[in-house]
Amino acid sequence: MKVAYGKGVSLSGRIAYGKIKFITLRKYEISARPAEGFEAEAARFETARRLVIARQEELYEEALEKASASVAQIFEAHIAILCDEELLEKVRHRIAQRKTNAMQATLRAFREITDEMLATEETAVTERIADVRDVANLLLDALAEAEGGALSEPGGALCTEEDAPAESSGRDSFIMVAEDLTPSETLRIDRNSVCGVILRGGSVNSHVSILLRSMGIPALVQCEGIERSWDGMPAVIDSAEGTVYIEPDERILNEMRERQQDEKKRTALLSELKDLPSVTPYGRRIRICANIESPEEAIAARENGAEGIGLLRTEFLFMNRHTYPDENEQYEAYRKVLEAMKGMRVVIRTIDIGADKTPSYMQMERERNPVLGLRSIRLCLARPELFRTQLRAILRAAACGDAAILFPMIISVEEVRKSKALLTECGKELSEKGIPWRMPETGVMIETPAAALIAEDLAKEVDFFSIGTNDLLQYTCAVDRGNGLVEYLADPMHPALQRLIRMTVEAAHGAGIPVAICGELGADLSVTDRFLAMGVDEISVHPVAVLPLRGKVRSMKEEPVICN
Ligand code: PEP
Ligand code: MG
Repeated sequence: MKVAYGKGVSLSGRIAYGKIKFITLRKYEISARPAEGFEAEAARFETARRLVIARQEELYEEALEKASASVAQIFEAHIAILCDEELLEKVRHRIAQRKTNAMQATLRAFREITDEMLATEETAVTERIADVRDVANLLLDALAEAEGGALSEPGGALCTEEDAPAESSGRDSFIMVAEDLTPSETLRIDRNSVCGVILRGGSVNSHVSILLRSMGIPALVQCEGIERSWDGMPAVIDSAEGTVYIEPDERILNEMRERQQDEKKRTALLSELKDLPSVTPYGRRIRICANIESPEEAIAARENGAEGIGLLRTEFLFMNRHTYPDENEQYEAYRKVLEAMKGMRVVIRTIDIGADKTPSYMQMERERNPVLGLRSIRLCLARPELFRTQLRAILRAAACGDAAILFPMIISVEEVRKSKALLTECGKELSEKGIPWRMPETGVMIETPAAALIAEDLAKEVDFFSIGTNDLLQYTCAVDRGNGLVEYLADPMHPALQRLIRMTVEAAHGAGIPVAICGELGADLSVTDRFLAMGVDEISVHPVAVLPLRGKVRSMKEEPVICN
């Protein structure tokens, strides 16, 4: 029998087995039982509401203990929605006016609310829709449970393809299938139950893909050939080939098992490199560090033999929550990373918020072209209090270890000077209050063509460079890194990109400062020789890519030369 399959672009070489689960459709069996009157239906709703609140409180406590405050906030937000008077009134009103049962009233009231939210077209409001739908789904689950699963007419899908929540609660391992995800939805994926992800959209260098890679979840993006009828079927993702097989036969399963065994052997061999230096047989040494998005990942970085953190993407501390992290919370997060890295260097990048990362509580303006808009350092300089809070937290954390600070999306010397001036002022402020701090080394990300072209000038202002190839490629080749339709144009070997990288390295070394590569290209072993030949001092990659990269460096017998 022919096995059905889909084809996509793989984000890792790993294999995942699980049941296919479309997160877009959540079909409810809405009870068609005639309403028993206002009192009885309102009481049913109230019981379900209390049950869901109690469950969310438990999850909140569990998240605080096992995950992080930012994850716990998701459940806190759910509780707030469940206590929202306006919303509760809408459900009660429907029960009273239309003589509907509790389930029908809940479904319709929540639909009305989410439609209203959608109609506002305000990012701050529409971003909360996923949370409201989560809550509606939880209430409907609880009401269905109380109905004893008795069913009748098919209900409607609360989640649309665009904004279905990425959270899952199933106990089986499943392969989540979605149209696309946002970075915050990706962060909310429950790693205990999701073993793989398949996106019909997406692109290789988007923040979502970066997150999936660093979470170690086998994933395919731009996957074609997926069929709705596969929902619930057993499947296997063969990431090496970029294929998902549905109901795989014995032949495929055997092949996957063998592949997995090989993978295990490879991992064991690589783990022997954990404490070995990153040096080529001809004596060229390079630092290999890790890119992380959360303090928890520092452990994975150490376990994978990283020589430091080359990029801490601090904006993820600001996501999946409803208020700003204050100075202390940020300080604790940075200190935690420094402590976990036990004296190794940690490069803390100031927030790169904007473009695809827009927490609703920040109330950012809607922009026509956010990738070219008020993103990153621009946002920080436009909102100095936000920036100063983070700078103070970093200065304080720097007193606890070898921290460095990295400014992203720089296009001018003025931006660097302004940022450094604020840093100095923040240091003074802390001294006046008698709070311990230390001035870290400062660096800029070279991720715009402007920065690469003025690298000689920028090098006079800072202690190091870090080249962000993801954005540098996006801005150099005018290829939206989140748009799969133009991904074929995102050629990392494009001479313009390669020339800008080379110019940057030369400018850095001319000024006597080191230069790192921290974009996804660092993990592409086919260009490691080029980076070594150019004289790059450090490559920073997601934790699981550290050892393969070290293996590559240690196996390079001949000194490479670049021909163009
Ligand atoms: C980059 O642009 O290459 C980079 C490392 O930053 P980010 O991927 O977070 O934009
Ligand atoms: Mg970038």
